[in-house]
Amino acid sequence: MEMARTPNAKPPQVRTGKPPRVMLLFTYCYTILTTPFLLAHFALDILLTLFPQTRPITGWSLNQAARMRVVKLVLLYWSRLRWGDRLTLRPGGERNRFEVMHPRSPKLYTGALSDAGIQPEAIGATWTPARPPPPALVRPELTVVLHFHGGGFAVGNGRDEDTGYLARTLIQHMGCKLVCTPQYRLSSGTNGRFPAPVQDALTAYLWLLHEKGIPARQIVFSGDSAGGNIALGLLRYIHEHGAELDIPAPGAVALWSPWVDVGAAIDQDMRQSPNYKTDYLNMEFGRWGAASVSGNMDPSGPYLSPLHHPFTPPMADMPMFLHGGDREVLWDDIQVFAQRYGDIGWKVHLGVSRQCPHDILLLGSRLGFEREAEEAAKESGKNSDNGMFFDTIIIGAGISGINAAYRIQTEGPAETSYAILEGRDSLGGTWDLFRYPGIRSDSDIFTFGFPWSPWKHNVSLASAEQIKTYMRQSAESQGIDQHILYRHSVASANWSPADKNWVLQVEVTGQDQPITIRSRFLLLGTGYYDYEKPLEAAIPGIENFAGRVIHPQFWPEDYDYNGKKVVIIGSGATAVTVLPAMAEKAKQVTMLQRSPGYVFSLPSNSIITALLFAILPISVAHYLNRIMWLLRSHLTTVLCRAWPGLAKLIIKHVTIKQLPPDIPWDPNFKPRYNPWEQRFCACVDGDFFAALRSGKGNVVTGTIKTVTSKTIELDSGERLHPDVIVTATGLKLRFGGGIRFAVDGRPFEWSEKFAWRAAMLEGVPNLLFLTGYETASWTLGADVSARLFVRILREMQGRKATVAVPRPSRSMPDKPMMSLNSTYLKTVREVLPKAGTGVWAAKTNYFADMARAKWGSVSTDLEFS
Ligand SMILES: Cc1cc2nc3c(=O)[nH]c(=O)nc-3n(C[C@H](O)[C@H](O)[C@H](O)COP(=O)(O)OP(=O)(O)OC[C@H]3O[C@@H](n4cnc5c(N)ncnc54)[C@H](O)[C@@H]3O)c2cc1C
Repeated sequence: MEMARTPNAKPPQVRTGKPPRVMLLFTYCYTILTTPFLLAHFALDILLTLFPQTRPITGWSLNQAARMRVVKLVLLYWSRLRWGDRLTLRPGGERNRFEVMHPRSPKLYTGALSDAGIQPEAIGATWTPARPPPPALVRPELTVVLHFHGGGFAVGNGRDEDTGYLARTLIQHMGCKLVCTPQYRLSSGTNGRFPAPVQDALTAYLWLLHEKGIPARQIVFSGDSAGGNIALGLLRYIHEHGAELDIPAPGAVALWSPWVDVGAAIDQDMRQSPNYKTDYLNMEFGRWGAASVSGNMDPSGPYLSPLHHPFTPPMADMPMFLHGGDREVLWDDIQVFAQRYGDIGWKVHLGVSRQCPHDILLLGSRLGFEREAEEAAKESGKNSDNGMFFDTIIIGAGISGINAAYRIQTEGPAETSYAILEGRDSLGGTWDLFRYPGIRSDSDIFTFGFPWSPWKHNVSLASAEQIKTYMRQSAESQGIDQHILYRHSVASANWSPADKNWVLQVEVTGQDQPITIRSRFLLLGTGYYDYEKPLEAAIPGIENFAGRVIHPQFWPEDYDYNGKKVVIIGSGATAVTVLPAMAEKAKQVTMLQRSPGYVFSLPSNSIITALLFAILPISVAHYLNRIMWLLRSHLTTVLCRAWPGLAKLIIKHVTIKQLPPDIPWDPNFKPRYNPWEQRFCACVDGDFFAALRSGKGNVVTGTIKTVTSKTIELDSGERLHPDVIVTATGLKLRFGGGIRFAVDGRPFEWSEKFAWRAAMLEGVPNLLFLTGYETASWTLGADVSARLFVRILREMQGRKATVAVPRPSRSMPDKPMMSLNSTYLKTVREVLPKAGTGVWAAKTNYFADMARAKWGSVSTDLEFS
């Protein structure tokens, strides 16, 4: 260890950043005397930059070549005249963005960071573009880069004039949200030799963790040149003492032209480097920094020369992004460093900027290499993973995703980190997307709602707005909303067997480049239909229609249909909902159906529900009410399937009683299938039939021959003359949110795989999907899968396993996952996984499925490793 000393050893002669006065006087005189020569040389070089052939690199522009020359001269004077430490803790032009950070307990500065002469001190730091929010508001997408500036340890200050360009470039192109640039003590000052810079780096990191409440995984260490050396020093310290001092590792590290061999600056002559002429660094600068920072210690030791002392990453999956210019003097060291650290387990990605000098991220704007700096920052964004890693990622903030989040929080292993990635800018899923008139649930809200969040209104079929508000309030009440990353759309997911995690490419609205997020487990709450494309029904001639054609999935906001004649094509739940709602304002609304379905009236409220909530405590009433509605819906389905003839008779009787005389039951309400072979359509308090009786609503059963500019012609010869056509023809089935899935880079088809307990895919590790029931509220089925998921997590914890993958132990016949035969569900086999037998069977019965999820075996055909 570099700093090890025996207790009785004499205090060594400490070299400080300030050279002796005589030496300084000599250097000044020497500089003054050589100035005419230096300026003449400079003038000649500038002249040579006028011609591409005489520039250090012919590919450089005049601007780049000239600026390089100016920076080289300035740096030479800077090094000779020792213009170093000018640090102050006053806010300056950075105002509120400047913050003073104080050291924490001295016990945290141990080992190489403990030094009798150099104690941790308060330091300043600049935030770009602003300070972080209070800890309570720190969200999972807040990625903070903790950047240590370069300057040979001797110059620089992390303020706007120094690192402002770098910070802005990282924010715009790397994808981080905030950059914090500490003003660590400089070796050109009195107390700035090692370990001062790493002590200060630790002070800043602890400040971010404890005062700012930023989780370590959301922090990226970054450093340019000497700052890269400091970032590595801090990582080494965490590697050596993190466990004992409870200092976690950051999410990632990015090093820009890092100085990884400080010792070489003293031992070797930089001018021998083949890149000396294409770089602006000079020997005096390197020696000044190396000598002043090392003080009395050996600069070729582990902390200052990490090139020769590789150490393993403090966290297994920590990505390291390394970048350099291939025409800088440090380029060879950087390549060797990448090789050595990669060999001992770091996930190194080496980026190179061709024909570029040293540290273009810091000086890109001054040297004319902005484009290259931006490219480098973009590349780092793709490869540093932005430090985002979660134990579980839920995709989709619909009812399934939010419910799963609750199960993870309350029943999963403690400390399970999770985030919900949602492509839209709001939660709700289906209930946020659909805006057609009258939109509401068509199954009772008591079983559709969350089991853990009572629905407090006595309304059994709730409107989309009510459902969305309820979902938002429920999520907020459990703090689940704090885990949602909106406008994060997952484009691809690849299982990496080497790292045993999923690597997601996520498109963030407003950002050019996708970001990478990793997670151990993936949970899909992405629903079952395509959000972007509706189901295109084959309606002959529809393109000729001169009026408006609207698909309910994309209802135009504020569309005025007052006094218009509307034809709704379709007979499903949407058509049954839209008809009475539009009939309130439209002149005439006709439901045009090829074949009829079952329409049944449900009361908007229930006396028993009202009574339960009136006399019992809310949690008891909620529980009993849910059971009542569960049994009610279960028994209806069972009875309809057991005695279809009787069920048909009852429905016929009830329907005929509600129809007006001019709309006959046969053919308009006489389905060709038995009840519950396709979904039932519910209407609230008979509103659908009331609209028919009012004369404004109508039902026509027939097949469309063609649509002309103003007319819909049926095979029967009947003609309809609508102003507007609503195509309520169903949804385009899509599974897995349109994400390109792969295992170890090999894509797979969902429809070719069996589904284990209707929730995990054969041969696909750590992936679980949430689906509901066809004949009962969706949430019930999604909750069965969510509970199964937390059991699997706990099982894995007990077995100390990190991977769970289903594998069938025998061959079996395959069946469709869904059995209803509505038009849009006909493509089920092409889209959904296959169902088999035993643990591979589809979910069909809530009570049995929930019992299996809670108490059944989770190891039959599920391999853990
Ligand atoms: C009009 C309509 C009415 C319905 N009424 C009922 C009813 O009354 N009762 C019933 O049981 N069922 C009903 N359903 C079925 C309904 O879809 C489900 O009940 C339920 O809302 C589905 O919830 P979910 O969370 O699983 O999926 P969704 O609500 O579809 O939510 C999926 C979420 O995932 C997000 N997402 C998808 N892909 C990605 C991606 N790649 N990256 C990031 N985010 C992504 C979406 O943006 C969306 O927010 C209805 C469906 C429709 C269309």
